[in-house]
Amino acid sequence: MANNTYYNEILTEHNIRPLHKYKMENADFSLEGVNPSCGDDIVLYLKLDQDEKIVEASFDGDGCAISQASSDIMCDLIIGKKKDEALRLSEIFLRMIRGKITDEEKEELEEAGILEDISHMPARVKCAVLAWHTMDEIFKDAEEGKIDQYSGKFE
Ligand code: ZN
Repeated sequence: MANNTYYNEILTEHNIRPLHKYKMENADFSLEGVNPSCGDDIVLYLKLDQDEKIVEASFDGDGCAISQASSDIMCDLIIGKKKDEALRLSEIFLRMIRGKITDEEKEELEEAGILEDISHMPARVKCAVLAWHTMDEIFKDAEEGKIDQYSGKFE
């Protein structure tokens, strides 16, 4: 890992001072995401405006440093983005973790790009993707008309 120090700094910073870690009382959607293999357990909260733009995103819960940092970084990235754009970024992120991404795509992920090395740590993959999968699940269920407001569990 060439940028090991940088990677650790970012991870630490998001764990000590997460910007988006709080329970959102008036969220449009909330969903619990669980990674039993590590014990990560988060709830993701999203608030959208009438144009499907994410105006607020937050998470709460407990888990390892990677799951917590990845959740905070994701919230930071998707706030202000439309639903489709957030899903596109999530697709890129998940592909990065599987090890197939272009430099241009990595740039689009901004800070989330530091988690690229997780692709070489199979045991931590589920920690890194937890928040992103949970977001995907919220939008997928909403699109399929299963829910207007979702509050459930994704594992
Ligand atoms: Zn974990």
